[in-house]
Amino acid sequence: MRLLLAEDDRIISQGLIAALRKSGYAVDHVNNGADADTALLSQLYDLLILDLGLPRLSGIEVLKRLRARKVTMPVLVLTAQDGVDDRVRGLDAGADDYLTKPFALPELFARVRALTRRGTGNPTRIEVGSLSYDQSDRIARLNGEIVDLSARELALLEILLLRAGRLVAKDQLIDQLCSWGEEVSNNAIEVYIHRLRKKLEPGGARIVTVRGLGYCLEKPAEAADSAADGKV
Ligand code: CA
Repeated sequence: MRLLLAEDDRIISQGLIAALRKSGYAVDHVNNGADADTALLSQLYDLLILDLGLPRLSGIEVLKRLRARKVTMPVLVLTAQDGVDDRVRGLDAGADDYLTKPFALPELFARVRALTRRGTGNPTRIEVGSLSYDQSDRIARLNGEIVDLSARELALLEILLLRAGRLVAKDQLIDQLCSWGEEVSNNAIEVYIHRLRKKLEPGGARIVTVRGLGYCLEKPAEAADSAADGKV
């Protein structure tokens, strides 16, 4: 999952970036509306977290431009405590949800999970053979047992699960895992895949390497008609 955070308050953005990255989201950050607009033109995100009070171009204007381009990515708007008009204008301009500052991190995470689920159009629970994954709490289970995964491993597994049975190109993995300025090399992806395999294969879940192209989470034939089928 790759998110764009448009927020000019340094303290809020630093806190959010750290917390979101720790949970395995790739986060790009801009501190003004013009840069947000540019970023949204060049990159597809799973979610935009948008402060309305932004310099250079207001959050409302960023949102209006995004929706005018018929982009349906979910948008979570952040507003000031007394900004009732802002909230209404935000929702009118096409925001999916809003949070009033100051907010508690668990509340933000709940909104982020709900909005990114809606965005992918996928079911909350994905089952692929012996592996199941709950998008609402981001927990992976293998034969019913919780799999202990790092944030990066979890993010990688989530991408593979959402496209189970299909090839995911290495470039695509790198793109979805990394924020700007972060380097994740081909080799690093191989290391994460190796670690995932060590944790998953004893339980019967297999990640297949398609040489030179990428990876595929193998989908058992009997699971071919499961809910995860063809819904990305
Ligand atoms: Ca602001």
